[in-house]
Amino acid sequence: MTTTKDTNTAQGNTAGQKVDIAAISEMDRAATLHPFTPVRAYEENEMGDPRIVETASGIRITDAKGVTSIDGFAGLYCVNIGYGRQEVAEAIADQARKLAYYHSYAAHTTEGLARLSNRLIAMAPGNMRKVFYGLSGSDANETQAKIVWHYHNLIGQPKKKKIIARERGYHGCSVISGSMTGMSFYHNHMDLPVTNILHTGVPHHYWGCNPGESELEFSQRRADELEAMILKEGPETVGAFIGEPVLGTGGIIPPPEGYWDAIQPVLAKYDILLIADEVITAFGRIGADFGSELYGMKPDLITVAKGLTSAYAPLSAVIIGDRVASVLSEHSDEVGAFSHGYTYSGHPISVAAANANLDILEREKIGAHVAANGIYLKESLAEAMKDVGIVGEVRGVGMMAAIEFVADPATKTRFEAGFKVGARMSAACLKNGLIARAMPHGDILGFAPPLITTRQDIEEIAAIVRKSVLEVTQQLADEGKI
Ligand code: PLP
Repeated sequence: MTTTKDTNTAQGNTAGQKVDIAAISEMDRAATLHPFTPVRAYEENEMGDPRIVETASGIRITDAKGVTSIDGFAGLYCVNIGYGRQEVAEAIADQARKLAYYHSYAAHTTEGLARLSNRLIAMAPGNMRKVFYGLSGSDANETQAKIVWHYHNLIGQPKKKKIIARERGYHGCSVISGSMTGMSFYHNHMDLPVTNILHTGVPHHYWGCNPGESELEFSQRRADELEAMILKEGPETVGAFIGEPVLGTGGIIPPPEGYWDAIQPVLAKYDILLIADEVITAFGRIGADFGSELYGMKPDLITVAKGLTSAYAPLSAVIIGDRVASVLSEHSDEVGAFSHGYTYSGHPISVAAANANLDILEREKIGAHVAANGIYLKESLAEAMKDVGIVGEVRGVGMMAAIEFVADPATKTRFEAGFKVGARMSAACLKNGLIARAMPHGDILGFAPPLITTRQDIEEIAAIVRKSVLEVTQQLADEGKI
């Protein structure tokens, strides 16, 4: 690898040397297997150089070419407090110097871990009692499945093992969590889903409603369909239902009116546990500590990750409610130790990042900022799109929003997939200085900026989106596609 002397320390690496973009790109193409990247096309340089991200501050990231972009997706909806927080970096460094690692098996703990667990129990909605730690949303949902199975074994319901998730839900991509995920392209060629994971209908009113059906009626229909599925499978075989308060990767879809109010009585009727997957929605993303609070959900189990540390270090958690925690405790003498855990469960460095992140979240009242200003994101995007003829829906809640493009809004006709409208919109935004994510399902441009994004930032984001969408719309017209 060759390097050149750095002339601009802001863009240099820690050794004060500029990144040799060509050499690093070649090394990366040769040896890194990237998530969600076509293997051969990347390897053979058909996709151009990778973006070598070097530094970041606030809501912006800067790459090795010196190009800065507004990160309208907070990484992957995770850098909630924004980039470059020295306070979190210091907390991580202090912990690394003091005690970089010790495990949490067999009743070992650290001060930070004990404090974090108590803090999460105090923050979480309902009657929560215990916290189990992992490193990713995927592994936490894997843990959820094991806890559901374990719980039902302990209460003498060994057949109650099926887990119902939803079409277009996203719960990760490990074996069980990937099976819970309700999008076929996460399953294809990977032998997923495994058995005993079922999917019920997506709560998206725009696409799913019958003519003239209100949101409330649609929500009730989804609940009726869920009940029919439970009855068909046999209620004695269904152990849990997992759902994101707001669907994320499936298209950033807030629930239609009355959805959770209609779903929960069905679960209660058949003694089915509710897992709220709050990997995106917890810690202020939609203006409350937990999305469950906003929608009146009363989960038995909650999954958190991302915003727990604002991604300064990997950490996830399963928060366990009293109903399940008390059974684990009551049957403990029969079964012995809780036989589940990871080398890095409760890793001290990640825990330090979480505590420092939550300090900032509380001190700066970031949730309240989102509650007060988040709606401005959706409204500004809607305003920016109001005369654009290919917008089917602008939706969102808090600092989550999406624009869904359709060929004809009047008839709700989709674009041909081959036109790649979503991807083109995202590429145009990037060219104009904004990262907005082409969501994997349909022509959807997604937004989930850091929670510190101001009204002025939102105006800048909306202006870039408008410019980019108009450019692509013109290109589509020139190509005869609209
Ligand atoms: N659950 C939800 C709701 C998510 O959005 C994600 C990731 O985007 C996951 C689980 C999986 O998390 P991870 O990518 O950390 O495994």
